This record gives sequence, C-alpha cells and structure tokens, in this order.
Amino acid sequence: MSLIYDRVALIGLGLIASSMAHAIRRDNLVGEIVGYARSEGTRKRALELGFCDRISETAADAVKGADLVVLCVPVGAMGEVSIEISGSLSRGATVTDVGSTKRSVIEAVSPNLPNYVHFIPAHPVAGTEQSGPDSGFAELFENRWCLLTPKSSVDIDKVNKLKSLWTSMGANVEFMEPDHHDLVLAVTSHAPHLIAYTMVGVADDIRRVTDSEVVKYSAAGFRDFTRIAASDPTMWRDVFLTNKEATLEVLGRFTEELFALQRAIRTGDGEHLHDYFTRTREIRRGVIEAGQDTDAPNFGRNKKN
Ligand code: NAP
Repeated sequence: MSLIYDRVALIGLGLIASSMAHAIRRDNLVGEIVGYARSEGTRKRALELGFCDRISETAADAVKGADLVVLCVPVGAMGEVSIEISGSLSRGATVTDVGSTKRSVIEAVSPNLPNYVHFIPAHPVAGTEQSGPDSGFAELFENRWCLLTPKSSVDIDKVNKLKSLWTSMGANVEFMEPDHHDLVLAVTSHAPHLIAYTMVGVADDIRRVTDSEVVKYSAAGFRDFTRIAASDPTMWRDVFLTNKEATLEVLGRFTEELFALQRAIRTGDGEHLHDYFTRTREIRRGVIEAGQDTDAPNFGRNKKN
C-alpha cells in the first residue's frame, strides 16, 4: 500500500497520539512521524518508546514540512497550540485535531490558521481511562467511529485523504455538523462521564460512613463507574467547559427522568420501573448489534480497554 502522507506531525503525545503512531507504524501509512509534547518528560519517554521517528523541542519545529498536522492536546489547549504552529505550517498542509468537542475547537483554531492550509476537524470516538505516551496501542481505533466535521468549502481531496488515514487505522468514518456532534457526544459520552464522576464521589462520601465496604464489596455497576471516573481530569474538565450548553441540556433531561424513577420507587410503581428497564435493555442490545461492545463476561473488556 502506498503512503497516505509523507510526514505527519503529532502535537501532544498522549493516549490518542501514541495510538495513532502505533497504528500508522503497523501498516506503514506515513513516511515519517514527527512528535512534540510540551514537557521534557513526555518528549523523553516518547523517544524511549520509539513510536515517533523524531521528536521536536517546539511545536513550530515539529510541523515544518509536514503534510498532515494532528493536534492531540486537551480541547482547552487547542487555540494556544494553533497560535504556536501557525507561522510554520507548509502551504497546502492539512491540519486536523482529535478533540472530544468540535464547535469550541473550530472557534479556537480556525482564526489562527493561514488560508493556505486545510482545516479538517475530527474526533475519534475511541479511548480508555489511561493517558500519556505509555498508554497507546495500535488497535484503539479498530471498528470505532471517527467523526469528521469539515466546512463544506474544504478541498474534497484533502478530506478523502484524511478519511483514508482513519479507515486504514481501523476506524469507520462519518461526517457531521459540529453542533450536532457536540449534542450527540453530550448524550453518549460527556453526560455519562459526569454521572460516573458523581456516583463515585457519592460512594466516597458514604465510604466514610461504612468504612471500606464500598471498595471491598464493589459490585459490577460501581466498578464500571470507577473505571470511567478514573479518566484524565484535565481532558474532562476541558470537555465540560467547552461543551457547556449541550451537556447542561442533557443533564436537565437526565434529572427529570431521575425524578420520575425516584417517584416510581417511592410509590411502588413496579410497572413503570419494569417498562423503563425493558426499554434500556433493548438499547444495550442495539449497541452490541452495532459492534460497539460485546456481551462477553468481564464487561467485554480486555486488559487494555
Ligand atoms: P493525554 O493522554 O492526557 O495527552 C495529552 C497530551 O497533551 C500530552 O502530551 C500533554 O503534554 C499535552 N498537553 C496537555 N496540556 C497541554 C497544554 N496546555 N499545552 C500543550 N500541550 C498540552 O490525552 P489524550 O487522551 O491523548 O487526549 C488528547 C485529545 O484527544 C483531547 O483533546 C481529548 O479530548 C481527545 N480524545 C480523548 C479520548 C480519550 O478517551 N482519552 C478519546 C477521544 C478524543 P505533557 O505530557 O507534556 O503534559
């Protein structure tokens, strides 16, 4: 298979960037991978792990001569990083990102980019609760969605090229409007994370009352919540601060439903509870049928995810 890009620059070297690098290396998709991370510790570790061909000392240096630049930093840092690289981008290069929110990234990045580059925002809907350069693995994007949210005026050849990189890394690609993306992700990812954070916080409060029983007898539901609630604090702080409206809208609906279920429990309305749980069970079946999870024991998870 011929190379899709000659040189890719990965800005930020955590879970997503290192997974991209491993997948690119596995299938020889790009001529050269250049990396940059803001801290010396991460740059050094990435060098030791060897998933980049070169590591640069500055973001501006890393993007020089790259025909693809991927911003892999928390969404709150995208604007700042795009300012750092803007003067060093090659004419005709594609700039993309992997941020979990799209409207805020587009607003923060677009104004800083020269008009001779092609900006194609993206979000691979794939992740784990791990972060940093050690956490990446080539299979992360296998059979996951990567959502692209380009403007309709962007060069279609550049869009197809980026699409082919993501499909070669194992992902299924779909196009979406940025605002629609943010609403969908608020339902499927952002609000569930906040609920997990809250549940683990509540359990921690109760633990103080019941000693360590909450951890000792940790059941499946709670264990799942603790896994999600172990996700990177910086990344998730930024997600909530930048996808404020959609997340608050979903949480408002969630609170209404929670009140209805609370009332059903209080009034002994078993029919309401049974109907509700039957409906949600169907949704779980749909997720499995769509290939987005398995019904294997241990929550269908292997060691890595
Ligand atoms: P990560 O493992 O925590 O790595 C983040 C990288 O960004 C690190 O190299 C870090 O540098 C750098 N960074 C952090 N703050 C920065 C700042 N203010 N300026 C410059 N660089 C900064 O994160 P990740 O999970 O790969 O996430 C990267 C992006 O992918 C985020 O936008 C996130 O929303 C998105 N995403 C994440 C997931 C997921 O589940 N994790 C899934 C899909 C998309 P140092 O190491 O030097 O501190």
